[in-house]
Amino acid sequence: VARPQYAITILMDYDAHTLSVSQDTYYPNATGQSLGSLLLAVNPNLWSGVFNLQSITVNNQPHSDYSLAGQNLTINLPVALAPGETVKIGMAYTLTLPYASSKFENFGYTARQTNLTDWFPFVVPFLNGQWVLREPWAFGENLVYDKADFFIELGFANPDAIPVVAASAPAEATDAGFRYTLPNARTFALSMSREFLYSSQTTASGATVTSYYYPEDANAGAAILVHTAQAIDTYTNAFGPYPHSTLAVVETDLNDGLESDGLYFLARSFYKSYDGTPQNNLTVIGIHETAHQWWFGAVASDQAEEPWLDEALSCYAEHIYYETNYPGLVNWWWNWRVNYYSPTGYVDTRIYNPPTFRAYVNAVYLNGANFFDALRLRIGDEAFFNFFRAYYAQNNGRIVTASDFFNALAANASGYDDIVDAYFQNR
Ligand SMILES: [Zn+2]
Repeated sequence: VARPQYAITILMDYDAHTLSVSQDTYYPNATGQSLGSLLLAVNPNLWSGVFNLQSITVNNQPHSDYSLAGQNLTINLPVALAPGETVKIGMAYTLTLPYASSKFENFGYTARQTNLTDWFPFVVPFLNGQWVLREPWAFGENLVYDKADFFIELGFANPDAIPVVAASAPAEATDAGFRYTLPNARTFALSMSREFLYSSQTTASGATVTSYYYPEDANAGAAILVHTAQAIDTYTNAFGPYPHSTLAVVETDLNDGLESDGLYFLARSFYKSYDGTPQNNLTVIGIHETAHQWWFGAVASDQAEEPWLDEALSCYAEHIYYETNYPGLVNWWWNWRVNYYSPTGYVDTRIYNPPTFRAYVNAVYLNGANFFDALRLRIGDEAFFNFFRAYYAQNNGRIVTASDFFNALAANASGYDDIVDAYFQNR
């Protein structure tokens, strides 16, 4: 296999908030070195009583030489995995979902929906001779993902009362639920509710966007569908092709926005405060999360150590969205989104260093937008957008570092070193 593959069969009792899961993982050793063990991230094991591992097999043989502590599942292989070889890991486990609060982001259930993000064990990337699995933090994201292929079979214990399901890929109906195939993606997210309404729109480039929302928020649900489809067209022109065939936009009971691959969440509070204009959090955060399909999904990075590589780019993508579609609102965007907070702090700040969420956003997102503005003014629009398109084309599918970014920039422009010095501490 060319990439890791996850073949996952779920039997879900929606009302009991439980999942019984059978997962086959095919991991090809593309590291160039022999591997004596694999490290998998198990986000659900950060809760107690949620993840219950029942059995592991390695190449179809029962296997007990593993350790599970917090989010770290280390599987010691009976025979080292040579470069180019593939190992099959079988796992059976159950998930007893937690009641979700904002603290736990979008994993678990609320009164009206169930959200499955980072819900299955996955082999973390192996970069520069090390497995990359960062500790969670009070804000920001910490997981890093290889590209993989997903084959998901979701069945319900009660097929007569199946909820509406939003997913990272288009659904194919089965007797008891749905089947999904998602090639070449970072992860696979699901969100479900019996109350969701939904509507879809096709972008100019042929991707299908579906907006899932609660009945009382139909106007906002329709608006974010239009903005998201428009943003896909805007970013396709500015950066390069949208990487998937679908995108699900999901209203969530939880806070803020959160990107996944092929799906993003948007807080119910944004739908509630939607005022019929494009000048609000529903639009700004929605198109920000849409940009993460390019800067997180297609071009990934170490979200904990170098969060600016997806957040600063997604924040500046908001500017590109407004200048393209609502040029009269660019000044509004600067004042409302950036200048109001008088952002300070180095753009290349880790998630672990700022004292508050606001300080983190100010440094990484907002000063990131200031950096791109200064850079664009210096090098001009042609070089600026040539750089973005080249950077995207060269790094689509990869996990990048700051060096990849600055190498692509240097290939397309010059004379901006003082700007980099002003905004970055590690360059
Ligand atoms: Zn973001």
